[in-house]
Amino acid sequence: KNAAGKYTVTLIEGDGIGTEISAAVKDIYAAAKVPIIWEPVDVTPILKDGRTAIPDAAIESVKRNFVALKGPLATPIGKGHVSLNLTLRRTFNLFANLRPCRSVVGYKTPYDGVDTVLIRENTEGEYSGIEHVVVDGVVQSIKLITRPACERVIRYAFQHALATGKPKVLVVHKASIMKMSDGLFLQTARDIAKEYPQIELGAELLDNTCLKIVTDPEPYKPVVMVMPNLYGDILSDLCSGLIGGLGLTPSGNMGDEVSIFEAVHGSAPDIAGKGLANPTALLLSSVMMLRHMKLNDYADKIENAVLSTIASGPENITGDLKGTANTARFTEEIIKRL
Ligand code: NAD
Repeated sequence: KNAAGKYTVTLIEGDGIGTEISAAVKDIYAAAKVPIIWEPVDVTPILKDGRTAIPDAAIESVKRNFVALKGPLATPIGKGHVSLNLTLRRTFNLFANLRPCRSVVGYKTPYDGVDTVLIRENTEGEYSGIEHVVVDGVVQSIKLITRPACERVIRYAFQHALATGKPKVLVVHKASIMKMSDGLFLQTARDIAKEYPQIELGAELLDNTCLKIVTDPEPYKPVVMVMPNLYGDILSDLCSGLIGGLGLTPSGNMGDEVSIFEAVHGSAPDIAGKGLANPTALLLSSVMMLRHMKLNDYADKIENAVLSTIASGPENITGDLKGTANTARFTEEIIKRL
């Protein structure tokens, strides 16, 4: 916070639709007079000692500001690049990925009143990136699970349950098959649960959770789900589908010092540059960021404006929500409702 009462926040606009949805967020923030100064940074990767790294100027900006808002970054497939998203998470030790999914009133999906919270372990597990060829035609990929990483994400889940008044933490796992790795995750949860006697601990097999949550998401309302990396990646997209898709789902990458808020979706190369992208997910990620910064009044104002715009009819919303508006029209409608 500077002398004029303004906060500087790092902005990573991202690739593809990233610039379009970031522009929408900036316009809405200016109209809502949010006391934030954006500090845009370039995260085009550099090679440092043979490893993919984020440019120093971007790292310094995030470290100085403690919070960043991030658009999607494209990851080339199968070219030996380490994903920049993974690099960011590792660079800032963003160990927990918080992904809430709440039904948008007025936007009809097969499910009403969905309200799920999923916390994904963000640094290791199946995404440790340790893969090698054993012999031609045989590859091995290592799922790395460490007790410290389990502890911090599970503790975060309990603290989140306490802070948001949810009575239960649910570990989603496959310890029936991955007895040692998921077994360690589950055992760590049982140990940590002793520190939080007021919160109930549950455990459920991933496949069972998938079946139950698409059958009826209601029982998952009073629950904070926590799980290893890959399961969280997949199950959070499934939850996103319950409320109307990726265009609506925000997330926060939380660390001890720094937090980076980002939409769950990618750079949408199929619609990039056409002015058709839905900025809601990035905007709702920024609303999570405002609450993290304790700027709750601005968060409420922007959240109400975007949700009431979505409920206002197909002429005001984007194509992914079966509407006919472009990004500019949708943004204008949100600004009108601030
Ligand atoms: P995607 O999320 O970019 O797109 C999937 C589908 O959803 C597309 O049809 C797209 O048009 C649509 N979509 C996504 N966001 C939208 C929005 N805001 N408004 C309207 N429609 C939207 O997934 P993908 O095509 O698998 O990935 C594209 C690139 O994004 C890849 O390089 C991938 O690695 C990257 N990616 C990045 C992140 C991230 O930065 N966190 C997350 C996922 C994917």
